[in-house]
Amino acid sequence: MVKNDFYQTLIKKLYKISGTNWYLSTCKSCNHFFLSPEPQATNCGSYSCNYETSKISEIDTNLRKNQSLLEISNLIATYFKTKGYVIEKPMEIIHAYKGKARLDSMKTTLFTVAGVQLIDKKVPKEPTYIPQPSVRLKWLKSYSDINPKKPYSTSFVNITTLQAIERIDDFYIQLQDWLELLNRFSLLNKIKLKIKETQIRWSEKRANGIFLKVNYHGVELGDIGLIFDFPFNKNYRSHLIDIGFGLERLGWIINGTRSYFDVIGPLLLSALKKYVVIDHVRTLTLIVGSNVSLRNTVHGKKIGKLVDHLVECGEMFFDFLPLVVYYYNFWKNFIYLPLKPTEIEYEIKREINRKINKRLLNKGFKKYLLQGMEDLPTYELVDRILKERNIHPNTMKNLIYKTLYRDNA
Ligand SMILES: [Zn+2]
Repeated sequence: MVKNDFYQTLIKKLYKISGTNWYLSTCKSCNHFFLSPEPQATNCGSYSCNYETSKISEIDTNLRKNQSLLEISNLIATYFKTKGYVIEKPMEIIHAYKGKARLDSMKTTLFTVAGVQLIDKKVPKEPTYIPQPSVRLKWLKSYSDINPKKPYSTSFVNITTLQAIERIDDFYIQLQDWLELLNRFSLLNKIKLKIKETQIRWSEKRANGIFLKVNYHGVELGDIGLIFDFPFNKNYRSHLIDIGFGLERLGWIINGTRSYFDVIGPLLLSALKKYVVIDHVRTLTLIVGSNVSLRNTVHGKKIGKLVDHLVECGEMFFDFLPLVVYYYNFWKNFIYLPLKPTEIEYEIKREINRKINKRLLNKGFKKYLLQGMEDLPTYELVDRILKERNIHPNTMKNLIYKTLYRDNA
């Protein structure tokens, strides 16, 4: 099909912007084609193709910019604004959840996963820019999955540009904008573009697309997608440009910090390797702050997993409020959070109490169970059992210790 022309045009554009030749090679590890300024390159740069992202801070010390995520985000927004892009506000994090009438759509779009969700609302005929806070829980199986060497976390800002285009040529205009931006960050000659042809699914819609995965030494910074003949609605089909970069990953590489979490911060917590606390409280601040009760809602139950993890790894007595304030002050630059930090902290703490108490009551304390105890703060629960059930405080201590800590020892 258009493939060969596509690659040739791409290589020309890359030459024009970077001033060097780019070469099409095959990855020895995954067999995908990729483009790189190195003629002899044998690896596409994906994490799964044997890269050690732990060495990020040692690779390219020239890159060190010491810019915060917000500074980088503002810089990128200004850049696209200057280029004439329509700046769209991000969508609410709980997409399609307005009352009980739309249970069906809740299943497919539980959380806003990317800027591309704008296409459900409208056809973006102009080049459009959206910094979309996003939540992804699909990789999260256990708390040990939060790995500072693996560059993903459960929430991030998806820096997205979109456009519905009639002519493929318009794709190269937007591609050029992104490549120029990467060049401003001194990244262009250091990335590899892994080429993937794939069918995309969007609700009931299907279309074929070409995606360029932008890889920097094992970190997938973003996805440059061109989707062919996308059925926006019954009356309208066109090609779709869908380009998305992870702000946090970009920030990591631009700053060249030791860990991904150094950029997310607070730095002290990252230095103490409190990655689970950093990631989970950040995501909880976004979701609970969007006024999602952790109880009795589909969404709440789903992210209740994060609270489980906090309890599992012994972080349940952490002083959450300063952290909630810290992440609240970050998210509020992108999205309106109806809850105040103190309300968010209250909701997290309440759920933590419930999870701890549930563990206590399900295990050693079952025989001491009194009605309505599950919701009390743990210290009150313990207090009440001591008073009303006449057991020795040491027995109680042992039981608590066993229940909360033994499993993770
Ligand atoms: Zn590969």
